[in-house]
Amino acid sequence: MRTFDCVLANGRIIDGCGNPWFWGDLGIQEGRVAEIAPPGKLQGKQTLEMGGRFVSPGFIDVHTHSDLSILVNRRAESAVRQGVTTQVIGNCGMSPAPVDETHLSDMQHYWGDISEQPEVTWSWRTFEQYLQALEGGGLAINVASLAGHAALRMAAMGLEERSPTLLELEKMKKLLSEAMEAGAFGLSTGLVYPPGCYAGTEEIVALCQVVKRYGGLYASHIRGERETILEAVAEAIQIGRESGIPVQISHNAPKYGAPCDATANLRLVEEARAQGQDVTVDNDVHTDLAPALVDGLPQHLQELPEAEIQALLRDPKARRQIREEIVADRKPAFGPSGLLKHGQWQRITILHAPRTPDEVGKTVAALAGERGGDPFETYFDLIVENGRAVEAIFDYIDEANIHILLQHPAVMISSDGQVLAPYGFLNDPPPYSPCSYGEFPGVLERYVREVPVLSLEEAIRKMTSFPAQRFGLWQRGVLRPGAWADIVVFDLQRLHDRATNLAPHLYPFENYPHRYPEGIDYVFVNGVMVIDPEGHTAVLPGQVLRQGK
Ligand SMILES: [Zn+2]
Repeated sequence: MRTFDCVLANGRIIDGCGNPWFWGDLGIQEGRVAEIAPPGKLQGKQTLEMGGRFVSPGFIDVHTHSDLSILVNRRAESAVRQGVTTQVIGNCGMSPAPVDETHLSDMQHYWGDISEQPEVTWSWRTFEQYLQALEGGGLAINVASLAGHAALRMAAMGLEERSPTLLELEKMKKLLSEAMEAGAFGLSTGLVYPPGCYAGTEEIVALCQVVKRYGGLYASHIRGERETILEAVAEAIQIGRESGIPVQISHNAPKYGAPCDATANLRLVEEARAQGQDVTVDNDVHTDLAPALVDGLPQHLQELPEAEIQALLRDPKARRQIREEIVADRKPAFGPSGLLKHGQWQRITILHAPRTPDEVGKTVAALAGERGGDPFETYFDLIVENGRAVEAIFDYIDEANIHILLQHPAVMISSDGQVLAPYGFLNDPPPYSPCSYGEFPGVLERYVREVPVLSLEEAIRKMTSFPAQRFGLWQRGVLRPGAWADIVVFDLQRLHDRATNLAPHLYPFENYPHRYPEGIDYVFVNGVMVIDPEGHTAVLPGQVLRQGK
């Protein structure tokens, strides 16, 4: 009888394809799932008794921003602790490569404080060099990367608010084909952020035609997810149609200010699919986000140094103009700005305010009441007083839309978070990122076990085989002999997300700072145990995945 490296015995196995669970033993050998058999049939050098716990493919998170944070924390704590074994980075147009000498400081400014961490060496210039930097020190999880449109554009033309010249577009195409050759999985855009918001549809189509040569996809944070959501979904679909590549619409919940619920944007996706176009969607299940207050300002101000922003906001005339621009929203700004546009100040709760700490936990509406002023003015005053450091929780998504998206077969689950850890730089000050710590266990706890919005097997499909299929990771996301042994073992009854914070956000905030979830007992990456019941084993068996290789 064959002896496997490790046997997971007496588990309830979920294959990842949506099929009902079954009782079985699973044998791991040399990084792969070697055999699956009825209970009691397999023998291992190490045998772990599952006692009926669920054995599932590791979760694949297709929408993250861990590009730099995973260099700071190669153990990928917040990801692997929730059962994530593969992350896709380079989303929303933002990848830290390619970058050239001329625009290096723009790029560093773009990524903020993390740019200055010692682990973030900026020793790379090309996309391939960045992938090698990722690989160099080892990673606890697998990583696949998209090439970010903002990086290409910055390298070709800086942060200019105009269309590229022919020469500049050629340069972007050249850099993109280099990235695709290195193993990028496609192109991502962030069409509400600078400089992505300065790009026209034709520019993106031209770049996607390059992606087509390599068999990649187009992933987009579309051009507005509120008032313009339907036009923006239509644009993403048009880009896919004209360039002939699959489209992944990122975190596509309508945000406050949208004229419709999620059935309307999903209908556009269904229509495109009915005509033979491969369009899919991902979404995370949190209804809030906690950006810096400056991120709510018009795009052209966001890249200014803090002191300049504060000076502008001290000038009454400039302040009036900025306010007018926010309300007009001519270049649709990111989701949370809708709360400013529509005066929803009671939905904005202060999270960090280092120079006015007594205001933490209060809404902008309440603060305006205390200060005896107009809430818009209070919002600006908070930035003048605290600079970039002032952050707030913006409640900007309706829970009903989360349910609609979760139940749609073409929607997979992503976190839109990043690798974090409750220690070191990544916790200073503690970021508000429940999705980074609890997305996947949270879905299983709240939307499968407590309120059955979807079945366990369907939820797992949306976290495993479906995202694997989307990115062509054919050896992952399923439990079948031959597949890589990326595996998570969990106890559904004990699963508990300790990174929640449900509205209304009363201070002190619930489960904040965030902690790791409970009930994720084992996580294997490429057959190696990264999480056991004691915690992280400190091994780094992850791979940098390259498309087509
Ligand atoms: Zn985004």
